[in-house]
Amino acid sequence: MQVDDLATSGSKQVTARAANLVACRSCGTLAPMGQTACRRCHAALSSREPDSLSRVWAWLTAGVILYIPANIYPMLLTKTLGSQEESTIVGGAIELVHYGAYFVAFIVLFASVAIPVAKFFAIGLLAWSVQRGSRLSGHRRMQLYEITEFIGRWSMIDVFVVAILTALVQLGFLASINPGPAAVCFALSVVFTMLSAQSFDPRLIWDSIEESDRRAER
Ligand SMILES: [Zn+2]
Repeated sequence: MQVDDLATSGSKQVTARAANLVACRSCGTLAPMGQTACRRCHAALSSREPDSLSRVWAWLTAGVILYIPANIYPMLLTKTLGSQEESTIVGGAIELVHYGAYFVAFIVLFASVAIPVAKFFAIGLLAWSVQRGSRLSGHRRMQLYEITEFIGRWSMIDVFVVAILTALVQLGFLASINPGPAAVCFALSVVFTMLSAQSFDPRLIWDSIEESDRRAER
């Protein structure tokens, strides 16, 4: 297809691949298909990330698996006058409610239960819909992708809450708070889920739209 044809093709969307071009994912420069490295930023070029979906599933599985010990093992180890208490994520939130700290409890539950679980589902649904060509429209899939990108930024809140709590209580003489083994699992789970979302090549969404368009034309 020539560039002139692209201009006159009207409302029908044309992907870079259909125009024999490949876009750099880091700086956006267009290069002719077949070029392997970006001329401007030297990043590797590929029309579609190879094995994007397999990597999405692999990282997502690792993230979900680590989320289990993150909830079973203690997140906080609290020492007060010689006695040690351990609290898990949910247990800690319930304790906070008992102390009347509803807002902090809400943040903890939101950041460490609602966000990760929503992210698992969003990434899984996105990958599954591209793989299976489900009835989800291209626009919906793009929205789903934007949501995962957006909530990804907030997933480390819980680790920050633990860090802040630790710093706050460490200042007192009678009590000390240390992060438990769940904190490490949780942080790793968040990192793996982020890698999973990052492995997703959003251009795959266009391919699945093209495919469903073709199916509709028939
Ligand atoms: Zn580039």
